[in-house]
Amino acid sequence: MDEHYILKNAVVSDGLRFVLEDAAIEIRDGKILKIAKHSEIRDTKLKTIDLGGRLVLPGLLNPHHHLYSALATGLAPLGATDTFNRILEKLWWPLDRSLDEESIYYSALSGLMQSLRYGVTAVIDHHASMHAVSGSLGILAKAFRTMGMKGLLCYEVSDREGEAALDAQIEENLLFREKHKTDPDIRGLFGMHANFTLSEKSMRRIAEAKPQDMPLHIHCGEASGDLAFCRELGYAGPVDRLRAFGLLSRHSLLAHCIHLSDRDYDILYEIQPVVISNPESNANNNVGMMNSGKIGRYVLGTDGMTGNILGTFRSHFLFRNAVLPNPADLLFAYPAEIMQYYFPDWGRIESGAAADLAVTNYRPVTPLNPDNLFFHLIFGVQGKEMFMTVANGKILFSDNTLHTVDETAINAEIKKTVKKLYERYQQ
Ligand SMILES: [Zn+2]
Repeated sequence: MDEHYILKNAVVSDGLRFVLEDAAIEIRDGKILKIAKHSEIRDTKLKTIDLGGRLVLPGLLNPHHHLYSALATGLAPLGATDTFNRILEKLWWPLDRSLDEESIYYSALSGLMQSLRYGVTAVIDHHASMHAVSGSLGILAKAFRTMGMKGLLCYEVSDREGEAALDAQIEENLLFREKHKTDPDIRGLFGMHANFTLSEKSMRRIAEAKPQDMPLHIHCGEASGDLAFCRELGYAGPVDRLRAFGLLSRHSLLAHCIHLSDRDYDILYEIQPVVISNPESNANNNVGMMNSGKIGRYVLGTDGMTGNILGTFRSHFLFRNAVLPNPADLLFAYPAEIMQYYFPDWGRIESGAAADLAVTNYRPVTPLNPDNLFFHLIFGVQGKEMFMTVANGKILFSDNTLHTVDETAINAEIKKTVKKLYERYQQ
């Protein structure tokens, strides 16, 4: 189904170089065969879908998500959450300790179903389930395959459950990565929770175990306590500590980077790892904001808050504390750079590339070009659900319906799972 078809009457942009009006895209066997003016692509024998003048973008990446938190909507914390650490101790850590195989799977499906509705075709997940570590990333991978999405997965290693547990968490990262080294859709990263939940001994253990070419994914300088913790140990800050253990490279993923020292900023400038700002989560946790004027290369993630990346971009624009250096780069160029390291033709709208598309519900009527595209995204698209999401040429979502799964049936299963999950959480 849908192997060879045309999307017509579209305004297509790759987010960076071009905007093509009255456009059509011919898709065959998962790839973009041709993109041109509609008058140049006509074939009455092919299935043709009229997009009604809607804006089409590349499929989107959410570079920092926690699918394990997708079933927490409305869940009351187990005590006061007046500090960042108490938010972890009274909500997220008890929740992740309550997850079992079944709830990991359905939580991931729930989060991915929502992501698809917002045009997200790839998710970089940071997973924790302290009482179900071994095999947990494989369960997540199954959810990604069920949905037809791409993922970079890792387990967030920390000292929370003691030394033996730390080894099992490290092992989970290593085994998963090894098994998926050449997988066309799923790859493994090395997950670490944060500096402040890892002792010097644990950092040494990680530095020994992690292959040099395996990128890490960590919360870095999210709250002031992370910076203070590293300073207590004699480091200039959380970035400095990661570098001291030889863990940083250009492919490292550092979420947040709010509370950093001047030395940390210098190291970021020198090594240029990927910084992921999560503005809605930071507002929700009241931890401050990343200084977008001090960090040149960064992307935006949701940190488990939602699956909505363009909505997050809108929030970032509204909350910003500096002039946004290059809005198109942080939404399109840098995410493509991250993903192309693993999947070379990701994020391109051109002949021969994988057909990953986010068809918005927005029909532009004012002039649109690559220079003013981001205003159209903020004030036109407004972070709303997509009209259609396509990944590898497959229409995964359209007409308010997910096509690779039966959403109603899955939601019925999810409700049963949530009941059991919340009972364990309360105990
Ligand atoms: Zn996070």
